[in-house]
Amino acid sequence: MSASSCDVLVVGGGHAGIEAAWAAARLGARTVLVTHSRQAIGRLSCNPAIGGIGKGQIVREIDALGGLMGLVSDATCIQFRMLNRRKGPALWAPRAQADSHAYPAEAQRRLSELENLEIVEAGVDALLATPGAGRHRSMEGVLLADGRRILARSVVIASGTFLGGLMHCGEQKTPGGRIGEAAAARLSDSLRELGLTLGRLKTGTCPRVAPDSADFDRMEVQPGDEHPAPFSFLTTRISQPQVCCWVTYTNPQVHEIIRQNLERAPLYSGQIESTGPRYCPSIETKIVRFPEKERHQIFVEPEGRSSDRLYLNGVSTSLPKDVQLAFVRAIRGLESARIVQWGYAVEYDFVPPEQIEPTLMTKRIAGLFLAGQINGTSGYEEAAGQGIVAGINAARHAAGQDGVVLGRDESYIGVMIDDLCTRGLVEPYRMFSSRAEHRLHLRYDNADLRLTPLGRELGLVHAARWRRFEQTRARLDALMALLATLRLDGRPLIDLLRRPDEDGRRFILAHPQLAEFEADATLWGRALVQAKYAAYIERQRESIERFRALEHEPVPGEIDYAAIPHLRHEARERLAAVRPRSLGQASRVSGVQPTDITTLAVYLSARARTVGSSESVHDAAG
Ligand SMILES: Cc1cc2nc3c(=O)[nH]c(=O)nc-3n(C[C@H](O)[C@H](O)[C@H](O)COP(=O)(O)OP(=O)(O)OC[C@H]3O[C@@H](n4cnc5c(N)ncnc54)[C@H](O)[C@@H]3O)c2cc1C
Repeated sequence: MSASSCDVLVVGGGHAGIEAAWAAARLGARTVLVTHSRQAIGRLSCNPAIGGIGKGQIVREIDALGGLMGLVSDATCIQFRMLNRRKGPALWAPRAQADSHAYPAEAQRRLSELENLEIVEAGVDALLATPGAGRHRSMEGVLLADGRRILARSVVIASGTFLGGLMHCGEQKTPGGRIGEAAAARLSDSLRELGLTLGRLKTGTCPRVAPDSADFDRMEVQPGDEHPAPFSFLTTRISQPQVCCWVTYTNPQVHEIIRQNLERAPLYSGQIESTGPRYCPSIETKIVRFPEKERHQIFVEPEGRSSDRLYLNGVSTSLPKDVQLAFVRAIRGLESARIVQWGYAVEYDFVPPEQIEPTLMTKRIAGLFLAGQINGTSGYEEAAGQGIVAGINAARHAAGQDGVVLGRDESYIGVMIDDLCTRGLVEPYRMFSSRAEHRLHLRYDNADLRLTPLGRELGLVHAARWRRFEQTRARLDALMALLATLRLDGRPLIDLLRRPDEDGRRFILAHPQLAEFEADATLWGRALVQAKYAAYIERQRESIERFRALEHEPVPGEIDYAAIPHLRHEARERLAAVRPRSLGQASRVSGVQPTDITTLAVYLSARARTVGSSESVHDAAG
C-alpha cells in the first residue's frame, strides 16, 4: 500500500462500495477502497441476478448518472428479461440473470483501470475523528486491523452484512459476513463510540444444487427475451448468447417436512431475534404465514454460464442441513439433487437511517457517509444506488463543496434515500415501484433524460456518454415533433398513438420520413411510451409541481420542536429525531399527520415574520 492519505476512503468492496469508489475517483478525488479481499469485490452474496421491479429502474438511473452497475451487467449477464410486460410500459422493469464469476471479475477489471483509485486489501477496525462531541466532530481517517492508519477527508462505510455478522444454519451458529468470509468484528464498536446507534437485521439465502443432479425435463423452461434490452444507455446490443432458467414448485409433502421441523428452525426456535425482509421471506416463514397455499413457485437459475451451482430462487432457509436435503429432494425435478451449498441466514448490525442526511452523510460526524446494507436496505441495486450518491457527496465534501440530494420527483434513488432518512425502518428496505408516487415519470426508458444532465453537471458523465445522450435527445425531440405535426385521416399521429393497440408502424406508408426512426427500435419504443402516456404524464407533472412547492419550503435545522404551540407530542418527538430539511420531508415522517404540518407551517411563517422584522430593525440600526 502506498497511500497514507487520500480525499475519499471507501470501506467495503460490495455493490455500494464499488459504485462509491468509482464515482469518487471519476470525479477526480484521490480515492482508496479498503476491503477484506480483492477477489471478493463485486461478489453477489445471494441471488445471481441484477434488476427487477423497482430495482431495474435504479440500475438505469445509476447508469444515467455515469455509474458502473449497468455496464458490468451488460457485459456479463447471461439471461435478460423485461418484467411487467403485461402492464403498461411505464412499469416495465429490466432484470438479468448474472454470471456469479464473470460479474465480480468485470467490476474488478473496471475499477483497476481508474487512475485515481487505489485498492487496499485489509480490514478496517476503527474510524478516526477529531476530538469533541456530537455535531462538531469530523472524519480524519481509519485505522486498519494491522495497526496502519490512512487519513481521509471523507469516509464512506459500505460494510454490507459484515458488521457483527452471525450466520445460522440449523442449530449451528458461526460468526461471518457471508459464507466463507469473516465478519467485521470491531467496526461496530467504533461507530457506537462516535455516538451512532446500531440495530440488528437478518437476511437469508437458499441451498444451491449441482446442475447434473437436477432433472430439467420435469420442470418448466423459462427462456430469456428474444431481443434483450441492455441496462446501460451506452450499450447498443447484448451480443452474448443467453441461457435458460427453469420453474418448479413446492408441494404439500415439502410443506409437511418443513412443518414437522419448525422447532429446529432458528427463525422459530428463538435463535434468530432480528427482523428479516417481509417481501422475501424464508420458505419456513411462507409455510407458516400462508398455510392454505398448496404450492410456492421456485425459479431454478444457473449461477453462471459454466457454473456448477443452481440457485433455487424461492426457498431461502436456515433449517438444519438434514431438513434442507429432505425438502429439496421432495421437489419435482430435484428428487436426486446434490446440495453443494447449504441455505443459511445472517444477522448483522446496521445504523438506523434516521441518523443520516439525504446526502448520506451522518448527522453527527462531518465527512462520514454510510451506504448500502448498513443503512438497512437489502439488495445489490439499492446498495449501488446509495453508493453512487455517497461517492459523489464524499468527493464533494472532500473538495469543500455542498452535498447533492436526489429528489423523489426525479429518481427511484431519491425515493429510497428520502424513505430511509425520513420514515426509518423496522425491516430490511427494498425498492418497489409502488413506493414512488411519481412512477409514471420515473420510468426505466427515460432515466437518461432525468439524470444524465445532472451527472454531466457534477462531472461524472464524461464526453462520450454526453455526446451519445445529446444525439439521442435530439432524435427523440425530432421524432416527437413529427408525430405531433404529421396527420393521418385528419388526426395528428400523436393522438392516434393513444389507442392501446396502435404501434404506429402503419404511419410509415403515408409518411416515409418516419422510417429511419422506426428502424431504431429503442427510440421508437420511447416515443410510443411518451405519446401513449402523454395525458397521465402531464397530470403527474402538475402533481410534481405541487410537490416541489412543499419540498422547497425549508425547515430550519435548529428549530426547537418542543416550543411549537399546539404541535402534538408524538410529532414533536418524531420531527426532533429526524430534523427534516423541508415541509415536504416533514410531511413524510412516520407518525406526523397533515394537521401537524399545518401547525408547523403556521409556526414557520410567524417565525419568518419575526426574524424578518428583527432583521429590518438591525438593518435600520446599522
Ligand atoms: C446470506 C445473504 C442473503 C441475502 N439475501 C438477499 C435477498 O434475498 N435479497 C436481496 O435483495 N439481497 C440479499 N442479500 C443482500 C445483498 O447481498 C446485499 O444487499 C448487497 O450485497 C449489499 O451490498 P453492500 O455493498 O452494502 O455490501 P456487501 O455486498 O455485503 O459488501 C460488503 C463488503 O464490505 C467488506 N467489508 C465489510 N466490513 C469491512 C471492514 N471493516 N473492512 C474492510 N472491508 C469490509 C466485505 O468484505 C464486503 O466485500 C443477502 C446477503 C446475504 C449475505
